[in-house]
Amino acid sequence: MAIVAPTSAAAFPLAEADLCVKCGLCLPHCPTYLDARNEADSPRGRIALMQGLATGVIDQTAKLELHLDGCLSCRACEAVCPAKVPYGALIDAGRALLAERRPARVRALAPLSVLLSHRPLRRALGALLRLYQRSGMQKLLRRSGALGRGRIARLEGLLPQIAAATRVDRPTIADSANDSVQLFVGCVSDLVEAEAVDAAARLFAACGYALRSPAAQTCCGALDQHGGRPATARGLAAHNLTAFAGDAPIVAMASGCGASLLDYATMLGSAEARRFAARVRDPARLLLARAERLQLQPLRARVAIHVPCTQQNVLRDPQATRALLAHIPQIELLELESDQRCCGAAGLNFVTQPQASDRLLEPKLAAARRLQPDFIVSANIGCSLHLSAGLRRDGSTVPVLHPLTLLARQLRA
Ligand code: SF4
Ligand code: SF4
Repeated sequence: MAIVAPTSAAAFPLAEADLCVKCGLCLPHCPTYLDARNEADSPRGRIALMQGLATGVIDQTAKLELHLDGCLSCRACEAVCPAKVPYGALIDAGRALLAERRPARVRALAPLSVLLSHRPLRRALGALLRLYQRSGMQKLLRRSGALGRGRIARLEGLLPQIAAATRVDRPTIADSANDSVQLFVGCVSDLVEAEAVDAAARLFAACGYALRSPAAQTCCGALDQHGGRPATARGLAAHNLTAFAGDAPIVAMASGCGASLLDYATMLGSAEARRFAARVRDPARLLLARAERLQLQPLRARVAIHVPCTQQNVLRDPQATRALLAHIPQIELLELESDQRCCGAAGLNFVTQPQASDRLLEPKLAAARRLQPDFIVSANIGCSLHLSAGLRRDGSTVPVLHPLTLLARQLRA
């Protein structure tokens, strides 16, 4: 089913919204409903609000915007809905409608989108941030509290150690011409998860795949798509369709990016986009198929797995990470939290809605206190940054790693 976000109220996908029979079965799975206990912060409440907005029955008020903005786009509701309501596409369309009627809502997103979709700009920012960290300025500002308590301080508190950006286009050797895999690095992984990108290259090579990362790739478009700028998101998606020509499987460093790539089929609605989406795989699942080729050293450590919503509810392969890491001898694998609810990172929510986001993070931090793991792993960079910042505030030094980083560290040379 192709659901293109609207360019006018008349184009809002009311037929898909009408699939919701208001049964409420999704409510116990919705983190924002469980947090607020308010119907307007539930999936069916938000669907009703969007239906009212699109048909002109209700006005676009600040309160209505808050209810729709509060949605984490975690899609836990979609995963359990018996009527197969395409909630993720609906909330994207609803936010596009809000932005169309009040463009000021998305003004701040435009420069961020430009930054994320231009590698030279990102690298320049990365160089500045490295300088900021290495010069001692970061320590000074953190100690002095000069950044205050607003969004700048929140963003700064999320900063991981920035490494020199890794090359994304290195080729590796394949067993045969059929074993190519294309790597989607995303807009921040080469800066803030450089070790994970290197790890992916080493692991895929060890399993006999030629991993290639097209240099022409750009941002997956998730921030624009979920933030109410569907035209920009579609432009980025079309660009990636060209950059990832061919028929090799596509793996994304971040599960959030992987979920967006999968959504291209719905966003663009073309046969080409559907073929592209059909090539998207979880990297852990692909490596798992050849895991017997990995020569791994034992690791005597307790490793807690955080399954991102995108891996759970969109890619729908929550066990791949655990199954792959289980190949490390002597490792003890734990679940960070058995209910696998959203940690609150949710795109930019952890910056724009810090209090709600921290409330959702608290059960994860409590689990970390209780389990006392040596490592936490997460396949999504947003979750990793949010978890790391929360752990630091908690006085914990438990590292949060990409699962491929942990696995590659155990590769025998
Ligand atoms: S979204 Fe699905 S599960 Fe939730 S109320 Fe509607 S039909 Fe029921
Ligand atoms: S996407 Fe997540 S936060 Fe939004 S309504 Fe569905 S379950 Fe709730």
